[in-house]
Amino acid sequence: MMDLSLNNISTNHSSQTKYVKMVILGSGPAGLSAALYAARANLQPVVITGMELGGQVSLTHTIENYPGFPEGVGGQELVDLFQKQAERFGAIVEYDTATDVDLKERPFRIKTYNSEYLADTLIIATGAQATQLDVPGEKELTGRGVSYCATCDGWFFKDKDVVVVGGGDSAIEESLFLTRYAKSITIIHRRDSLRAGIILQQRAFNHPKIKFIWDSVITEIIGEETVKKVNIKNLQTNEVSELITDGIFIFIGHIPSTQIFSNSLDLDEHGYIKTDNLLSTNVPGVYVAGEAGDPDFRQVITSAGMGAAAAMQAIRFLQAHEENQPVPIKS
Ligand code: NAP
Repeated sequence: MMDLSLNNISTNHSSQTKYVKMVILGSGPAGLSAALYAARANLQPVVITGMELGGQVSLTHTIENYPGFPEGVGGQELVDLFQKQAERFGAIVEYDTATDVDLKERPFRIKTYNSEYLADTLIIATGAQATQLDVPGEKELTGRGVSYCATCDGWFFKDKDVVVVGGGDSAIEESLFLTRYAKSITIIHRRDSLRAGIILQQRAFNHPKIKFIWDSVITEIIGEETVKKVNIKNLQTNEVSELITDGIFIFIGHIPSTQIFSNSLDLDEHGYIKTDNLLSTNVPGVYVAGEAGDPDFRQVITSAGMGAAAAMQAIRFLQAHEENQPVPIKS
């Protein structure tokens, strides 16, 4: 088999610019799994972590549906294990964020806050960010009672009353986590049934600290130094009422972090990068794994699987190009 290895990261294109075989953008399950597979092919992939090492998973308290952990595993712990395993085979994890990409020709040019890379292949695993409610008071009170992460902020709400918005797995799982601290959790959902999995639903319905307000949305978050109350509109009656609360946790889905690719890759109307079923984008040599291209599954295990698959595709792409043969993959 051909040797795909690099002796070292080369800096021969310019003193500032590092030439590498593969850059992986994002350090969640998709990015770190891609790194593991690419590292085991001796590619010394460079993982640009983004703002949050581990992405959304690192903000999740416990993951109960990742195989191999019958008792569940902490999100941060799982990310640490992924990272260690990828580094053991030579992946290079850089605590940096991409600011611009030029995919017009190969090697692709990737600018980051601290550096610039030329990469023969690129795997995009930039994930997604929490969606905001977009109501008055939300921005102003973020970090002062408004939160998008129970694992990060739950501790501040010991013996307090909090509101959770959303009806999906995140809202219910995080509400259950908040029961460790908060005195009461009121889940406000815009419909009269939950989207979350049935086991989570049952746990929430049975929990003495959790109650629900159905068919309702938050129209305003009110407070000066910190959150004091929210205005709630009943969508059936249009009636608006006030609820006194110490905090509000918002879990209403995500938007893909793909803005820097909008001029170079085909995105769908929601901003997800379009791929074929082999994770190829419209630019040969650029692949997508995880939530940046996946509006459907969005699980740790599916993202990790996509990361492995994207790396395998990139490895095949490099082999085909370095042997100067036709690429045996769709692109
Ligand atoms: P999600 O499944 O998209 O649910 C978002 C929830 O927010 C829905 O209930 C939605 O209402 C509501 N919503 C959306 N926009 C809203 C708005 N503007 N105002 C009020 N409510 C709004 O998102 P998620 O819960 O973050 O989950 C994302 C993915 O991760 C899912 O695939 C989920 O299964 C997965 N996940 C899995 C686990 C786990 O398995 N342990 C844990 C967390 C997340 P509607 O229901 O009316 O649409």
